Amino acid sequence: MSEAAKEKTLAEMAPPSYECRSCGYIYAPSKGDSKTKIAAGTLFTDLPSNWRCPVCGTNKTAFTNIGAQDAPSGFEENLEFGFGVNKLTPGQKNLLIFGALALGVLFFLSLYGLN
Ligand SMILES: [Zn+2]
Repeated sequence: MSEAAKEKTLAEMAPPSYECRSCGYIYAPSKGDSKTKIAAGTLFTDLPSNWRCPVCGTNKTAFTNIGAQDAPSGFEENLEFGFGVNKLTPGQKNLLIFGALALGVLFFLSLYGLN
């Protein structure tokens, strides 16, 4: 499975976040809302109809679906993060490690040469 395919699946699986149009508060299902005692993992559509924005108190109808926010973006960041090293094949990594070791040994031997 390619990285792109995995990313797409994650993005599709992540529940959408909703943004309050009056104050910009974002309800993320992965976090829930501690102020209004909504457990993490609760979908916006599953919130009680009397649920209000914890910041400005506006009702659910003022919220707009802004799509999955946290899961896919976090995934992308992780991809960027280890990119340089992950591109190296195991062979290249060994070469890097043993090359550095060999250089160290040569340097050590050169010290003996000075005496
Ligand atoms: Zn609000």
